[in-house]
Amino acid sequence: MAGNWKMNCLKEEAIALTTEIMKLLSNEVIKADVVLLSPPYPFLSILADQVVKESKVKVAAQNCAEKASGAFTGEVSAAMIHSTGAAYVLLGHSERRAYYLETDEIVAAKTKMVLENGLTPVFCCGELLSERKGGKHFDVVKQQIEKGLFHFDKASFEKVIIAYEPVWAIGTGETATPEQAQEMHHYIRSLIESKYGIDTAASTSILYGGSCNEKNAKELFALPDVDGGLIGGASLEATSFVSVIQSLPA
Ligand code: PEP
Repeated sequence: MAGNWKMNCLKEEAIALTTEIMKLLSNEVIKADVVLLSPPYPFLSILADQVVKESKVKVAAQNCAEKASGAFTGEVSAAMIHSTGAAYVLLGHSERRAYYLETDEIVAAKTKMVLENGLTPVFCCGELLSERKGGKHFDVVKQQIEKGLFHFDKASFEKVIIAYEPVWAIGTGETATPEQAQEMHHYIRSLIESKYGIDTAASTSILYGGSCNEKNAKELFALPDVDGGLIGGASLEATSFVSVIQSLPA
């Protein structure tokens, strides 16, 4: 289960939100294998120090550079992220693709950097509303996954978490129906099976993201091919996020 804080929270707010989430989770048997908190870059180190090392709560960056190091002003490398104690990186989020013109090739290069530095990528994919209305959603997601991931060997691919996030559902309050989510997740798993085999397909975590909250999470997470969630808005409020996490099936 991953929370994406986007460009929200000042330092003290980030610390307080983390404290609150950890406190609420300490009273529960956490249903997720891993809970990711994805703060803005300046707070990665702080949060990585704040979460208890052996707990299920880990820290993720929201992006990373496609280059290893050097004269790339303003960029943050995968090695730097690793050195903060963060262990995961969100990649190819639709906001990065739309506002910062990240192509499939750029997302592929970033994914390579993340894997080479011992971090776990959370690879985002998903179609625009116009693409869904035009019946192109399967083709769009297929291309994103093939170009972004399918050049990796099986061992590398097996380290990747996929997040299906229909762009029209992100931050809009309009969630994919359970039928739409299951259909796409099943399709993604079938693509993985064709490329890497049935065992890899079965063991790959495929998260759903897009206006997922405490009201709809249970129904979405009960779907056979939905393994968890990438949560934006609802991850900024501790009780909502913990409620979403605990909506996972036991
Ligand atoms: C996201 O940004 O990844 C996301 C899913 O946002 P929200 O939950 O707010 O739709």
